Amino acid sequence: MEKRIYNFAAGPAILPEPVLKEAQEQLWALPGVGMSILEISHRSKVFDKIIAEAKEGLKSLLGINDNYELLFLQGGASLQFSMIPLNLMVKNKKADYIVTGSWSKKAVKEAKRVGTVNIAASTEEGNFKRIPKQEELKLDPQADYVHFTSNNTIFGTEWHKEPEVGNVPLVCDASSDMLHKKIDVNKYALIYAGAQKNMGPSGVTFIILRKDMLERSSDSLHTMLNYKTHIENNSLYNTPNVFGIYIINLVCKWLKGLGGLDGMYKINKEKADILYKCIDESGGFYKGHADKDSRSLMNITFNLATEDLEKKLVSEATAAGFDGLKGHRSVGGLRASIYNAFPKKGVEDLVSFMKNFQKKNG
Ligand code: PMP
Repeated sequence: MEKRIYNFAAGPAILPEPVLKEAQEQLWALPGVGMSILEISHRSKVFDKIIAEAKEGLKSLLGINDNYELLFLQGGASLQFSMIPLNLMVKNKKADYIVTGSWSKKAVKEAKRVGTVNIAASTEEGNFKRIPKQEELKLDPQADYVHFTSNNTIFGTEWHKEPEVGNVPLVCDASSDMLHKKIDVNKYALIYAGAQKNMGPSGVTFIILRKDMLERSSDSLHTMLNYKTHIENNSLYNTPNVFGIYIINLVCKWLKGLGGLDGMYKINKEKADILYKCIDESGGFYKGHADKDSRSLMNITFNLATEDLEKKLVSEATAAGFDGLKGHRSVGGLRASIYNAFPKKGVEDLVSFMKNFQKKNG
């Protein structure tokens, strides 16, 4: 079999090896079914069982109660930038958005087509290197909801505690940190995540929606854009991403085997600590982009003194089997995405490589 390298890509991203192996074994024919997951009908009993298991797996990992509905949609997290205001920005036709990066800005752009957007806070000044403090948030108690991005994939910052928003429904784009630790779902009205980082392949968006929000979805909405359509049809109104949902189910089983999200968080913390320690102890050779109290456990962003040196590191790292380290063009530098499936050994090996690189170039 082809040797695997260390994949630091921001998404689509590394998947757990046991999941890939199981999917590979079953790709020819699912046990007892005689057909591949790529070939079965989404209306079959086999798939009914897979989608039910995936939902149960997610409910149990995240401790989701019956006040919530779970959906697997398409159109990426980006379609949610539109579906959320179309369905929820209906009472007072205004919503609060906390802007902590490019994805929040994209969410704002779509919401503005539906109603009034109040920027409750923005950390754009300083190129999104931090998460705003609670006292900075200028929240409107009449807002239909508050939207925030829990992890900023491009800038490498993360909320370590959700914003306090009183009785206003809280909506979160958790695309790049979903399932990386246990969260209190009861604090949220809606959480959404493109699957392609911590959950599975691209092409599925996972949504957790509090049932009372459904009263807001108007029957005049386009059928596919209405959350009610998808809930009434168990995410099967149209043909879903069958393979993606199958992989999510396997990922849930893998997470359970690691001790659930508490077990996963412990490993994620260890991995991120190893890399941040290397950056902090480099005497300024490596400079972290994010403020220390805003650092992400998933996407670790850092710069070197010059662009040339950064290019040199990326090219030597790629040759040594560390792929996907080039930072996003808006931050430059480097970004190591170390999602749930990324092995601790890979982080340790990267740190050895970085120390060596510093010795030779520092
Ligand atoms: N939000 C965040 C935080 C993201 O990281 C991304 C993609 N990287 C998106 C939204 C957009 O997701 P999609 O490509 O699934 O539309």
